[in-house]
Amino acid sequence: MTTAVYPGSFDPVTLGHLDIIERTARMFDHVIVGVLQNNSKTPLFSVEERVNMVRSIISHLENVEVRSFDGLLVDFVHQCGADVVVRGLRAITDFEYELQMAQTNRVIAPDVDTIFLTTNLRYSYLSSSIVKEIASYDGDIDAFLHPDIACQVRERIRQNKEKSRA
Ligand code: ADP
Repeated sequence: MTTAVYPGSFDPVTLGHLDIIERTARMFDHVIVGVLQNNSKTPLFSVEERVNMVRSIISHLENVEVRSFDGLLVDFVHQCGADVVVRGLRAITDFEYELQMAQTNRVIAPDVDTIFLTTNLRYSYLSSSIVKEIASYDGDIDAFLHPDIACQVRERIRQNKEKSRA
């Protein structure tokens, strides 16, 4: 059985992420979406919320599960019994960082390989940070996110604005 891990922050999960998950699910027997706890960034959503958000939009994919993780990616990959990491590449700007990560991971865990899926052209410009920025200015984010996720983002940004006014 082939198992792949697709790691990321998913803060929030976008249609670009979903496209990568769906394509990965067609290529591997089992896919584990790894949601990184990531204490160095201040996320809009907690790791539990991000896990639930991804779960809520992948219920049509029987061979995909979602787990959170913290620490080294290669340790998580080993715990999952996987040997492939999937990452998405949007533009040349992603390439340098992704190559460095893939090569570093290969040195510390030679049994783990990284494969890259090129972005769907429809979503090549799309990132979680752009979505958050647009939402923070009350812009329309419906083209970028599953409708339920778009509602949650709008609501969280509204709550945060209320908190900062109080
Ligand atoms: P990270 O903080 O690890 O970059 P992200 O949640 O931003 O986490 O992204 C997770 C993965 O999904 C990365 O490999 C990223 O390049 C990829 N990705 C993000 N947005 C898109 C998109 N629109 N199309 C294809 N891949 C994407």
